[in-house]
Amino acid sequence: MNKPTQNVDAHSVMFITPRPELVMVEGNGSWLIDNNGKRYLDFLQGWAVNCLGHSNPGMIAALNIQAKKLINPSPAFYNEPMIHLSNLLTENSCFDKVFFANSGAEANEGAIKLARKWGQLNKLGAFEIITFDHSFHGRTLATMSASGKPGWDTMFAPQVPGFPKADLNDLESVKKLVTDKTVAVMLEPVQGEGGVIPVTAEFMQSLRQFTKENNILLIVDEVQAGCGRTGTLFAYQHYGIEPDIMTLGKGIGGGVPLAALMATDAVACFVPGDQGGTYNGNPLMTAVGISVIEQLLAPGFLESVRAKGELLRSELLSISQEFGLEGERGEGLLRALMLSKDVGGKLVELARDRSPEGLLINSPRPNLLRFMPALNVNDDEIRQMCKILRELLKQVI
Ligand SMILES: *Cc1c(COP(=O)(O)O)cnc(C)c1O
Repeated sequence: MNKPTQNVDAHSVMFITPRPELVMVEGNGSWLIDNNGKRYLDFLQGWAVNCLGHSNPGMIAALNIQAKKLINPSPAFYNEPMIHLSNLLTENSCFDKVFFANSGAEANEGAIKLARKWGQLNKLGAFEIITFDHSFHGRTLATMSASGKPGWDTMFAPQVPGFPKADLNDLESVKKLVTDKTVAVMLEPVQGEGGVIPVTAEFMQSLRQFTKENNILLIVDEVQAGCGRTGTLFAYQHYGIEPDIMTLGKGIGGGVPLAALMATDAVACFVPGDQGGTYNGNPLMTAVGISVIEQLLAPGFLESVRAKGELLRSELLSISQEFGLEGERGEGLLRALMLSKDVGGKLVELARDRSPEGLLINSPRPNLLRFMPALNVNDDEIRQMCKILRELLKQVI
């Protein structure tokens, strides 16, 4: 680009992460546009959040119509979109009850509280929730404590107690941690931040059987893997099991702050005073959620996610072979390419800074790249992304 780039003065924005010197101003489908007019092919989509891409027309219409009608009657009253979205979610899952929250971490906090409450009522106060190494459940104190991210155990010490860590896909490691204090096991069907590591069918099924036999709840954190991302509406549906509790976030709002805690009737044991939140179930966000879920459930949509996931998978596999990399993994449109060297960060920067068009990808670990495009990304965009990737890999491998 020959145009002079605009300086960014963001001195009043609290520093929490290094950000590039650019401002994103507009989005459309799989494309983002910055303050200099440069376009980026977006395979991040707000970290698997914008499941229908940027500025989805259905979501815009839902926002506009609802904003004119009713924004917030307070959580002390029912509202129409809250009821409609609860019905949509329960009719299309094994769960009976929904509590809406504003973020994945908040939904997971609710899941932890619900499990502990259930333990008080049914298991003599059992409260321990077994979670997994390298898992990610959010950034509140309890969800950081539940997460298995290296270093997080001491970052804001002391931790919230009661989250022993097992090894993913290893039932023996779970069994070893079970005591009479164990109330639940919580896991992501595909560990997202941990590096796109899918739970095996054998592990998920034997874990469900084991937890059932031992009166232990099974909680799936589908904040990243849910809402069509893996090619089924919910990721647990791949395994032929029924969890007791599920949390949703990210994709359910398609980019707006919306999350959900879902439970079966047998487990939904909150009484007044246990759970709440100023914005829970507000009609503006739940109206958007309805639009998102209806689009995901439209005939052929999830099928097309599976087909695009297959295309991305085969393209990444050829790239891996061409460059002597270590393969790819994932489920649906949540995939990772395993590099042979720690060049992930370098590739992310090169991709973003290339011209005339940038590419946005992510590297949750230095030796891998993660891809989480919009679920309505088209085949050309997938091929274009892979073309750019080949061009960049030539520079660093
Ligand atoms: C992103 C994420 C969260 C946290 O969601 P926030 O909306 O950022 O609080 C929790 N669990 C998983 C699996 C996630 O990917």
